[in-house]
Amino acid sequence: SLIYIDGEYVPAENAAVSVFDHGFLYGDGVFEGIRAYGGRVFRLEDHVRRLFDSAQAIMLCIPLSQEEMALAIRDTLRKNNLRDAYVRPIVTRGYGDLGLDPLKCRKPTVIIVAVEWGAMYGSLYEVGLTAISVSVRRNAPDALPPNIKSLNYLNNILAKIEANVKGGNEAIILDSQGRISEGSGDNIFVIKNKKVYTPHTLNNLKGITREAVFELAEKNGIEVIETDLGLFDLYTGDEVFVTGTAAEVAPVTKIDGRIIGSGKPGPITKELMVAFRELAMSSGTP
Ligand code: PLP
Repeated sequence: SLIYIDGEYVPAENAAVSVFDHGFLYGDGVFEGIRAYGGRVFRLEDHVRRLFDSAQAIMLCIPLSQEEMALAIRDTLRKNNLRDAYVRPIVTRGYGDLGLDPLKCRKPTVIIVAVEWGAMYGSLYEVGLTAISVSVRRNAPDALPPNIKSLNYLNNILAKIEANVKGGNEAIILDSQGRISEGSGDNIFVIKNKKVYTPHTLNNLKGITREAVFELAEKNGIEVIETDLGLFDLYTGDEVFVTGTAAEVAPVTKIDGRIIGSGKPGPITKELMVAFRELAMSSGTP
């Protein structure tokens, strides 16, 4: 496969960046995760805008326009003959020295990797995920703003490790006040008495799949409410699901040993899963 690096397409086996790149040394950079369904890129402009917003927030100037970035993403898919794919644009502070000062980095590194991809949870969409609330805290808003999709994912990785160790498929991360923030790579929703609740985005990434679910729920006459939620609300919900570019809409049927609702993916979750699939297959940039 071919990887886009700074405007050139390099065979994957030769695709490399310097060990002096601050993306590698310090996680100094930003990224996106984007899906293509049947050759069409889902919400491409939204993802490109979020990439540029993340970069702006860390004072990283991407050496392409948003239009050029969107074109490069589509070109990378086309050059690799990919129709159902996951695309990962990455922009780092670039080559510098061993010090952390970004002034030493003259030029950001721009990378686009695309791979063939289907929904990440396989057979779990039918039975539901097991989620585990973890001890790692989403430290927002005290530290890194949660809407920067930066290369610093260690917090999320530690959450995933803890979920793995405890036999879960996904982590539930609380903030320092004990409020639900998000999963390691997705947003969390709970349904109670036919209404859908999700945390406001002060302590989690403003997910593009989350946004699509808001639209689909509205279209189907389902009310969505953004509010503070605690673990109690999840444990006692009728249905719980997560949303993300990789996960799509995925049911959660067990949390910390508690069976959620009927223990099977619930009717509203299933309705939204189907609606999301239809939207993903029928929209997007060719
Ligand atoms: N939260 C985190 C920490 C993520 O990394 C992601 C994935 O991008 C999400 C939520 C879900 O966002 P989206 O639906 O835009 O993929």
